[in-house]
Amino acid sequence: MIALLKHIALVLQSILLPPFCTSCGALGSYLCKRCKDTINPSSRQVCCYCLRPAYAGITHHRCRRRRGLDGAYHSFLYDGVVRKVVFKTKYGLRHQLLTDFLNEFQEAIVAGFTLLLANKEPILIPVPLHMSKVRKRGFNQAEILARWLAKETGLPVQKSVMRIRNTSPQSSLISRKDRRRNIIGAFRYVSKERPIDTTAIIVDDIWTSGSTAKEMCRLLKRVGFKTVYLFTLAGPYGH
Ligand SMILES: [Zn+2]
Ligand SMILES: [Zn+2]
Repeated sequence: MIALLKHIALVLQSILLPPFCTSCGALGSYLCKRCKDTINPSSRQVCCYCLRPAYAGITHHRCRRRRGLDGAYHSFLYDGVVRKVVFKTKYGLRHQLLTDFLNEFQEAIVAGFTLLLANKEPILIPVPLHMSKVRKRGFNQAEILARWLAKETGLPVQKSVMRIRNTSPQSSLISRKDRRRNIIGAFRYVSKERPIDTTAIIVDDIWTSGSTAKEMCRLLKRVGFKTVYLFTLAGPYGH
């Protein structure tokens, strides 16, 4: 109910008020030129296990784990304007903001994303939200990102993973150990299709400690996916 009222208020606001910059508040567009110019795609990708530089975020051979991620790529540093866009999408219930941002930086995002593909044809799997959160928010930002990527690349999206436990937000937990404990057993594979020699790309808006993606990856490898990557819009490394 509150989500619906907020949504109505936002729709009214967008009709009655001219758009304003998400980051600095300047009138005219959802992101002004000055703020837009501060955004650069991440040129530094790291191995998600040792956090040292790695080409396209592909996990180093020596860092590979049996049910671990084979790579993790993020388009932008999670900071400044990008941080505000991601945050306001999620907590301001403005999913259009995310789509506008993706369209604006289409070229850079798709170019980075294709580095991960390495001639494979993966399935895109968005990180699911618990039903109660979807009801409250009205959308899952990871799914919006996955559907947008699918439209741009022609790859299929599969909502084959469900969140069966309503976990605390990972950002509210400080230690790696707590984050790991919070997410263990939170997902279930719900598709009847069994993957054979298939690559999956887990899609999410941000990557912080990586424990959510790593838990989802363990599940996907257990049910038979051969290769699993993570793609996020924003992550912890910039230039
Ligand atoms: Zn601005
Ligand atoms: Zn490594």
